[in-house]
Amino acid sequence: MSTLIVVGSLGLDTLETPFDRAERVLGGSAAYFALAAKLYTDVGIVAVVGDDFPEAHVDLLAGKGIDLSGLQREPGETFFWAGRYHYDMNARDTLETRLGVFADFRPTLPDSYRDAPYVFLANILPSLQISVQEQVRRPRLVVLDSMNLWIETQKDRLIEAMRRSNVMTINDEEARQYAGTFSLRAAARTIMEQGPRAVIIKKGEHGVILISEQGVFGAPALLLEDVKDPTGAGDSFAGGFLGYLSETGDTSFTGVKRALIHGTAVASFTVEALGAERLATLTREEVEARYSEFIEFTSFEAASISAAVG
Ligand code: AMP
Repeated sequence: MSTLIVVGSLGLDTLETPFDRAERVLGGSAAYFALAAKLYTDVGIVAVVGDDFPEAHVDLLAGKGIDLSGLQREPGETFFWAGRYHYDMNARDTLETRLGVFADFRPTLPDSYRDAPYVFLANILPSLQISVQEQVRRPRLVVLDSMNLWIETQKDRLIEAMRRSNVMTINDEEARQYAGTFSLRAAARTIMEQGPRAVIIKKGEHGVILISEQGVFGAPALLLEDVKDPTGAGDSFAGGFLGYLSETGDTSFTGVKRALIHGTAVASFTVEALGAERLATLTREEVEARYSEFIEFTSFEAASISAAVG
């Protein structure tokens, strides 16, 4: 039985940055999420690929021990995405999206997935996310990701998916768009009115903010020497976050804060290489070392107020 399942895209990406280029490499939200989460726990993928999907990618995922019993293989073309980054890597242009077999994807959960306590609904059509919500029996924690396309075209279905989720992850611009406000705190409150008890707002190189019923918390991204390609940062963040939560089972505010730092640490490796290259060799020990670096990076001794002004 998988402890953690993810439904999302599995595909081939062509990536262009000002420094580098890679063609038809392993991509998709489910790939990034699963490689990250597998550092912590048993993870199963729900996705579809076509008959052009290289066996080497399947072998990589299977070799890591990722459960692929929910992977469908259909005749036709695998999901393909091409993106280009500029010097400010916080924004990207989508050059091409070809859905291929993903267009007719109907997620079907193997029985061994239905009792998974932890579920990640990566950024796909809200009706597919709902279909997975309907198939899992009694999940402990459901985390939902989404994007501007669904806010603009599928808001009602998205709200239905939100209603059945415990945590939502979304980037800052999209949170503002969804709620029609600049304040991220107010935007998170608007999202929480639909069901989620917590919202994680992703701010790219500026880190993440957690807004929950128990309080608010901010984590900067680590200051890296080399940033090559931000593709998959959000999904590998989610993999580290939910992987850690499912390993510890600690969903207290303190536990969720720690999980957020694990997500941050894992994502910091993803962006240091093109595509999922770095994630494919990443070890838990390396993540733990970066977790310690994060403590160094963010800790300081607060002087007492009277000393500061006296
Ligand atoms: P992230 O950088 O974390 O937002 O995720 C990047 C991954 O999302 C890439 O590997 C793409 O293959 C995948 N992706 C891009 N657009 C879509 C889409 N419309 N539906 C599903 N997956 C997508």
